[in-house]
Amino acid sequence: MNKKTIKDVNIQDKRVIIRVDFNVPLDDHGAITDDRRITAALPTIQYALKEGASKVILMSHLGRPKGAGFEAALSLKPVALRLEQFIKEKVAFFNDCIGPTVKEAITKSKERVILLENLRFHKAEEKNDPAFAKELASLADVYVNDAFGTAHRAHASTVGITAYLPSVAGFLIEKELRYLGRAINNPKRPLVVILGGVKVSDKIALIKNLIPKANSIIIGGGMAYTFLKAQGISIGNSKLEKDKIDTARELMEQAQKAGVELALTKDFVITRSFDSDDCKVSDTIPDGWESLDIGPKTREYYKKILSRAKTVVWNGPLGVFEREAYMQGTKDIAQYLASLKDVTIVVGGGDSAAAVAKFGLEDKMTHISTGGGASLEFLEGKVLPGIAALQDKQEQACAK
Ligand code: AMP
Repeated sequence: MNKKTIKDVNIQDKRVIIRVDFNVPLDDHGAITDDRRITAALPTIQYALKEGASKVILMSHLGRPKGAGFEAALSLKPVALRLEQFIKEKVAFFNDCIGPTVKEAITKSKERVILLENLRFHKAEEKNDPAFAKELASLADVYVNDAFGTAHRAHASTVGITAYLPSVAGFLIEKELRYLGRAINNPKRPLVVILGGVKVSDKIALIKNLIPKANSIIIGGGMAYTFLKAQGISIGNSKLEKDKIDTARELMEQAQKAGVELALTKDFVITRSFDSDDCKVSDTIPDGWESLDIGPKTREYYKKILSRAKTVVWNGPLGVFEREAYMQGTKDIAQYLASLKDVTIVVGGGDSAAAVAKFGLEDKMTHISTGGGASLEFLEGKVLPGIAALQDKQEQACAK
């Protein structure tokens, strides 16, 4: 990564403002149901404390507020309390993220760690409003972005603020870029990419970017049926994006020209109705039926391809993994990946990460991205604005 990190700047006695991704899931009573986004930010927070930052000011969004002020259900207060348990020191929590009261409270605060209230209570955050960004910047001396999950968004706390402060990456962003970047730009080969999920349209740019890089691309999940349709195979009522049939055909041609194996579903777990768990394994999808998972022959076929891999990138579940009746394909492939030795396995965020967690296999993967949308855009080859805005590492001075 050619961006400066928190290690490249002096933060001793400085006020450091860190954009973290504390967008944790909450239950109906406002309790945090999964705190991995908090633990993922700890290395950067703890480093800033250890290096003697005078204040460590944390800012994040949570959920999707209307942007018209405080909403109790989306307050970051529960996160402050959970964070205290991890860092074993008090966290000051303020009920806004900008303004003179917040500024004064930071100055007067006895606590070194401060969590600001949900950034998105202000519309200006998502609009990347310069005045709002300047207000945030005025709270600190150094800015650190460690919110990989929002790095694909140009918001005031990810991009705007970098106009006003020395701006560097935190350890989570550094780690994400190292694993995702190496997996597709400098992988140990063969590189096998597994793509699932439901929408072809979401993955076209990804497949285009990966065809020149991957050795094999496995396509499963709901998106596979548009490809099968393009090959003239009957798919019954399975997921189909009619307007993407031609695109699917083009992608298959491109893969063939590039010598990249593109592996599609060969057998199916079919049902008469999406809502029903009454299903059977079949080599075909008759009219009136739809396929919600890959069948056993497909699983063996995919595993054979994966057995040759040295690097695997996985984005998207291979069936409706949320339901017992249709989870077996995703589970079987996840367990197979977990059993592989000396293979780098990088899991994109979102549903594939949820699936790996559901099967209790997180520890067996080399890296699980914390950003669904951000990892997808990175793998598509897009520049993430929140990362582009950070300071570049100095070029090494050349010897005279
Ligand atoms: P995406 O957001 O595109 O990654 O899609 C994830 C969703 O795809 C999950 O909620 C899965 O339940 C769903 N899914 C995977 N396979 C299928 C399928 N064969 N038919 C319908 N939905 C599917």
